[in-house]
Amino acid sequence: MPSRFLIIGSGFSGAVLANQLAQYSDCHIDIWEERNHIGGNCHTSRDEETGIMVHRYGPHIFNTDKKEIWDFVNSFIEFHPYVHRVKAMHNGKVYSLPINLLTLNEFFNKTFTPNSAKEYLDGLGDKNIIEPKNFEEQALHFIGKELYHAFFYGYTKKQWGCEPCELPASILKRIPVRFNYDDNYHNNIFTGIPKEGYTQLIGKLLDHSSIDIYLNRKFNSCENVNEYDHVFYTGPIDAYFNYEFGRLGYRTVTFESSVYIGDYQGVSQMNYCDETVPYTRITEHKHFAPWEQHKKTIIFKEFSKETNKEDIPYYPKRLKVDKELFNLYRNKAETLSKISFLGRLATYRYMDMHHVIGESLEFSKLFLESLNSENLRPVFPNMEK
Ligand code: UDP
Repeated sequence: MPSRFLIIGSGFSGAVLANQLAQYSDCHIDIWEERNHIGGNCHTSRDEETGIMVHRYGPHIFNTDKKEIWDFVNSFIEFHPYVHRVKAMHNGKVYSLPINLLTLNEFFNKTFTPNSAKEYLDGLGDKNIIEPKNFEEQALHFIGKELYHAFFYGYTKKQWGCEPCELPASILKRIPVRFNYDDNYHNNIFTGIPKEGYTQLIGKLLDHSSIDIYLNRKFNSCENVNEYDHVFYTGPIDAYFNYEFGRLGYRTVTFESSVYIGDYQGVSQMNYCDETVPYTRITEHKHFAPWEQHKKTIIFKEFSKETNKEDIPYYPKRLKVDKELFNLYRNKAETLSKISFLGRLATYRYMDMHHVIGESLEFSKLFLESLNSENLRPVFPNMEK
């Protein structure tokens, strides 16, 4: 008898898992997706008016250092090379991000060499902070007050809705500082964007005769799912437990779109770093597909706010209280059987696509091994307590 599995959610974690289970075990898989499309927040579709491929839930650039993950995604669809270049607006002037030699020269009105820039920045960093414990300390330690306030303080306050000193240092570690003119926003070896969007990739992952997808099918943890041998949940873990210990903190994003003729800002992403501007950034999606030609252009202003019941959770805040709350949910989840929790929302972490895919591949392997052995079924992927 084939096993019957239920996967809640069709983002990358659910789709990669379904793909692996369908390929490597004798099973039937139902996927319940509460939205009217697959792909979770990576969903892309063409805008009707302009024909431009739009990243519906904000920009997604695929980047990884792991060749096996790059090869895995490229085995399903075609990626186009794409280097993400971001500009930052501060006090009415445009700068290059991440902070690089051009940014430093323009900001301080100097003509630094790589070595002199490094020396200068070393002098600006607050060396009284030995081990930075939060976002603000991390920034002050490495780049000093002026750059921090110009590019990070306002943006971060708008983005996360709290003081940067309340946030973990790890958020800032995502962004490099460079002492050359390299303005690639990412540091990874492999980077690109799917030629026909991410939803095509998710569709290919799920294209298997053992997989049935049910759209507009919301999961409710009270309902009876006993007919399944195992359930994999990729939604928010606090929602699974009906928020019984309280709500985990998330920021959500809303978008204001406009269509123009030609090119609006000349770049795919312009960050607005000052607190006086209500949005965090403007993305112009035709620039995510420079291999295409479009007469019109569509732009999105992004606004960040606290997540209410009906909002889509985007960014896990992971404040101290959230981490404590998550641990309560995690401990409770670990007492359950026949259910696993996987992905960004179920494990409450700020993860990029390549992390999610890599972890889902590893988790699938663990789970498949447990099917053929006495091993306990994994409840969570391997992650720090
Ligand atoms: N950040 C900032 N200013 C910027 C860009 C980023 O302060 O111009 C901070 C902000 O706190 C943000 C974090 O760095 O949440 C990570 O930035 P990234 O661009 O990786 O965010 P994402 O694209 O995931 O929203």
